[in-house]
Amino acid sequence: MRLEPTPELEAFRRRVRAFVAEHAPGVKAHTGVRAPAADLVPAIRTWTAKLYEAGFLGITWPAEYGGLPDAHPLEPSIVAEEIARARTWPPIGAATLAAAAVIEFGTDAQRAHYLSRIRTGEDIWCQLFSEPGAGSDLAALQTRARREGDVFVVDGQKVWTTNGQYADLGYLLARTDPDAPKHRGITAFVLDMRSPGVDVRPLREITGTTDFNEVFLDDARIPASNVIGEVDGGWRVAMSSLGHERSGVAARGVELFAALDDLLRLAEEALEDSATRQAIGELATRTHVNAAMIGLAQSRMLHGTEQPADAMLGKIFFSELNHDLTAFGVRLQGTQGLLVEGDPDVAADGWWQDAQLYSRAYTIAGGANEVLRTQIAERGLGLPRDAGQTDKSRS
Ligand SMILES: Cc1cc2nc3c(=O)[nH]c(=O)nc-3n(C[C@H](O)[C@H](O)[C@H](O)COP(=O)(O)OP(=O)(O)OC[C@H]3O[C@@H](n4cnc5c(N)ncnc54)[C@H](O)[C@@H]3O)c2cc1C
Repeated sequence: MRLEPTPELEAFRRRVRAFVAEHAPGVKAHTGVRAPAADLVPAIRTWTAKLYEAGFLGITWPAEYGGLPDAHPLEPSIVAEEIARARTWPPIGAATLAAAAVIEFGTDAQRAHYLSRIRTGEDIWCQLFSEPGAGSDLAALQTRARREGDVFVVDGQKVWTTNGQYADLGYLLARTDPDAPKHRGITAFVLDMRSPGVDVRPLREITGTTDFNEVFLDDARIPASNVIGEVDGGWRVAMSSLGHERSGVAARGVELFAALDDLLRLAEEALEDSATRQAIGELATRTHVNAAMIGLAQSRMLHGTEQPADAMLGKIFFSELNHDLTAFGVRLQGTQGLLVEGDPDVAADGWWQDAQLYSRAYTIAGGANEVLRTQIAERGLGLPRDAGQTDKSRS
């Protein structure tokens, strides 16, 4: 196992850092996968296009669609890390997920059309998987797509749709065969978010921001040519594409180190107190362990020795540490911790309060930690299957 970066990767990192410093669309005020203000969206589209044009995104795509076959497999992680280090915006939406689905399961025409429009920032995608009754148990989804000639007519409701308010296209899962076993009757579609019958309703969250939405589908019509993969074969499409996004994990390591630095500044006056010093020492230790876990997972990825539990362990460890670190940042402020962004005299513009409230999102998104723990037991440790569970897993 080798975790040290090679000189080539260090040179790549310097290039990305300089590029980000020159072109990025400003500092992102909040941590997490957040929706920008509407007036920033055009700048994020332009920024996305520049990243693709420079060869910093879409690196792992097939060469005919702009991928770079000779690139080092860690380059996508370095790009994500440098975007996080600059605390600027990554491209918004679910394009990485949708591109993975189209590349693996789409037709040549779909690949040419959708991938080129992702590259130019013309299409922002959202992920239309989760429903009020189908999250951890995604295969329970009820949104129905009925075939009528050359179109599918879709009815149902999605929820948690991140950046749905800005999306041009949706990567939709809907049930096409209600009589088949639940994993078998699902189809993956590309939905034009501006079609009649698509109603996006933003949800205001505990953070006070509006990062995700409900999406109501009422007789929305999708051309049959927008099916990704096979009709009734959507479960395989979804599970395969969900396994693709790894680079964000590395960015989370960078974010935690940045937060730890900020915590030291915030704690300056309290450092005389030994309990505060001990608490910070513990959080610093866990931040380093988190980085080591990311490094180990990357090393295994490079050597083809990935373990089934790697990603799940990393996600649980990160999300619980992020929760505790941001909680400590709020606690350090004493009664001032009750202030929020916009209040006079609030520390760091209320960043800690927002980050603490948002930290719950990380313990749910991408698989609730409780569900992941069961999966680690079953898939990572080979323990017997939980008798109380049916099939609750997303993957
Ligand atoms: C910030 C954020 C952004 C998201 N963005 C998107 C998006 O863009 N598109 C999209 O489709 N989805 C999105 N999601 C949805 C996400 O995938 C789901 O929230 C997740 O799969 C959990 O599903 P659920 O919320 O329905 O919770 P549920 O499945 O209802 O679970 C609720 C709680 O019950 C417990 N639980 C459930 N099942 C079990 C079990 N088998 N064993 C033990 N405990 C269990 C867990 O504690 C869990 O936290 C997003 C979620 C978040 C938090």
